[in-house]
Amino acid sequence: MSLPLAALTAFSLTIERRPALVKRDTNEAAIEVPAEGYHRRLADMRQLIHEYLDGVIDGGTTVMGDFTRQLEEQLGARWDCRAVATSSGTESLHLSLRAAGVGKGDEVIVPDMTFVATAFAVAAVQATPVFVDVEPGSWLISPDAVRRAVTPRTKAIIAVHLYGQVADMGEILSIAEEHGLVVIEDCAQAHEATYDGKPAGTFGDFGCFSMWAGKNIGGLGDGGLVTVKAEKDLRALERAHNLGRDRDNRYVHHSWGSRARLSELDAAVLRHQLSMLPTWNEQRRVIADRYDKAFAGLPLVTPEVRPGREHVFYKYVVHTPNAAELATHLRSRGIQTERVYPFLLSEQPAFAGLPHRAEPTPVAHADNPKLLCLPLYPELLDRERQAVVDGVTSFFEG
Ligand SMILES: *Cc1c(COP(=O)(O)O)cnc(C)c1O
Repeated sequence: MSLPLAALTAFSLTIERRPALVKRDTNEAAIEVPAEGYHRRLADMRQLIHEYLDGVIDGGTTVMGDFTRQLEEQLGARWDCRAVATSSGTESLHLSLRAAGVGKGDEVIVPDMTFVATAFAVAAVQATPVFVDVEPGSWLISPDAVRRAVTPRTKAIIAVHLYGQVADMGEILSIAEEHGLVVIEDCAQAHEATYDGKPAGTFGDFGCFSMWAGKNIGGLGDGGLVTVKAEKDLRALERAHNLGRDRDNRYVHHSWGSRARLSELDAAVLRHQLSMLPTWNEQRRVIADRYDKAFAGLPLVTPEVRPGREHVFYKYVVHTPNAAELATHLRSRGIQTERVYPFLLSEQPAFAGLPHRAEPTPVAHADNPKLLCLPLYPELLDRERQAVVDGVTSFFEG
């Protein structure tokens, strides 16, 4: 990968000069590296957020105003689709399943290794999630496993672009076409990740994004967005996310609808972040590349970027049989790590009492305990990155 060095240098200067939000110790020995960087991102936007807030207060509308419309239009133009802003990634998935007509008795194929929201959305429409295995190395939903799980009751596939890499959409779309299935992309971790040069959310019938504060772009609280291609899906979603009504008439409710709008303040914050997204994603890739090179000789597996895809590293996940010990070692050096997610869907207590079907998922079961997320975000300081490298290296080299 060729890295724009000038951009990287400029970036390092900017972040080193930022005013600290959390009191950060300048003493190298007492470094504290958080697992996630979004508090720093919001702190950097403090002034702008105050201005947007004034704009919302003075603008007279707090939901579905100019900021929301601009966000939807800019996204639609950029990704060549139509977009509806929603209240969360979870609601985006739930309402897309409803808009697709998925309901009781239908089966929806989801990967066993994902955030629980993917499958709760299926439970919310009273359909049955079917948990399938992932591919070793990328831990993305396995097309072979999907193929094996299809039954006459299968209505949809939710392809999760886990950790920031787009699933094998070529294969998923051909399975869907063969069996007449709806394809929903769970893009909550993959804002502007690409496959064959096209962004996540533009392959399936619905692309469901989370705009929760901690995602690659995110507002102050919860938020979401759905991308669609078909006019009928756009109409169905607009109604589903706003009490069954159309934008031009607030007193006619055509069908069931939830209350799942994005706030104007979050829309303003997100519209700004959208302009930063390419830079931020590139900064994530730069750090990932530094980690890859630093860890090359060590006995741990670094993230695999599949051909034809651009990863956006929502998480930088390493694979090692000593994941738990590595986490403890890093913790003792002030470095926070994460396990997303310590339990597979098939292991979650909630699904013991909910309709579901679990296919055999040997890859997910074998690999999940060995995965660990290292701190990676645009706001990570150079010396923090170095501390992570030193920490990981010292663990393996004793
Ligand atoms: C974050 C996330 C969601 C849910 O999004 P919310 O905005 O938190 O509701 C769904 N799926 C995946 C893979 C996620 O990472």
